[in-house]
Amino acid sequence: TSFGYKQVREEEKSKLVGNVFSSVASSYDLMNDLMSVGLHRLWKDRLVSKLNPFPGMKHLDVAGGTGDVAFRVLERIKSVGHRAMQGTLTDTEEDTHIYVCDINPNMLNVGKKRAAERGYSGEHCLSWIQGDAEALSFEDGSMDGYTIAFGIRNVTHIEKALAEAYRVLKRGGRFLCLELSHVDVPVFKEIYDVYSFSVVPTMGELVAGDRQSYQYLVESIRRFPNQEKFAQMIQEAGFQRVEYENLVGGVVAIHSGLKL
Ligand code: SAM
Repeated sequence: TSFGYKQVREEEKSKLVGNVFSSVASSYDLMNDLMSVGLHRLWKDRLVSKLNPFPGMKHLDVAGGTGDVAFRVLERIKSVGHRAMQGTLTDTEEDTHIYVCDINPNMLNVGKKRAAERGYSGEHCLSWIQGDAEALSFEDGSMDGYTIAFGIRNVTHIEKALAEAYRVLKRGGRFLCLELSHVDVPVFKEIYDVYSFSVVPTMGELVAGDRQSYQYLVESIRRFPNQEKFAQMIQEAGFQRVEYENLVGGVVAIHSGLKL
């Protein structure tokens, strides 16, 4: 039946995603820098500035991998906290908690190591939790913010991940998603196609010794719904004031929504 076929495909997808990130974990950060010519750093900065983190917040970064987004959230909260201390505001920095959730323990281990290198190993406000975006272990209405960067494209049922994001957020909580998206600018689109179909897999082979994983990456970008469609899915999950911002002509997009 078509259902049986779909189920096999889904199982294959989950397994494939698992294999991809186990095999790329150690070279993941380097590959990110190479493939995006360092731009992913700016995109993540933008994501976190849209989040507008505040001292005392409870934040969940799903598919958090090696910690890039979580470290930025923490750094911003620290800088806000220090400004607050110089003024007369009460410092609630200690209540801050950032949860990094990822399905892949190898990615989380790289993240923990990086946290230690940055001197964050003693931070009680950073937790690394293995878990699935489609079935989160957090309580209803427990988070002020939810981010997912370059992650939702990999989950098997996007709707389930969105429903879970909605469930764990508090009223007033913000959903933010950074994802490789669809370029719709003539000429640039053609250049981008050549880059992603030829250059990226070759780079994956040369640097990470793994052409297949990077081939998968490019194909998964093509299959992901376009900006408008994805915005609609976020709305259908219950979020309000849904909007998106294209960066570099749609190479990536940041979608946001509020749980009101
Ligand atoms: N957010 C990090 C970043 O921007 O550098 C990592 C992004 S990486 C491209 C995608 C991550 O999604 C991987 O670490 C992978 O293990 C994780 N992932 C894939 N499927 C997942 C799922 N169903 N639930 C949670 N994490 C998942």
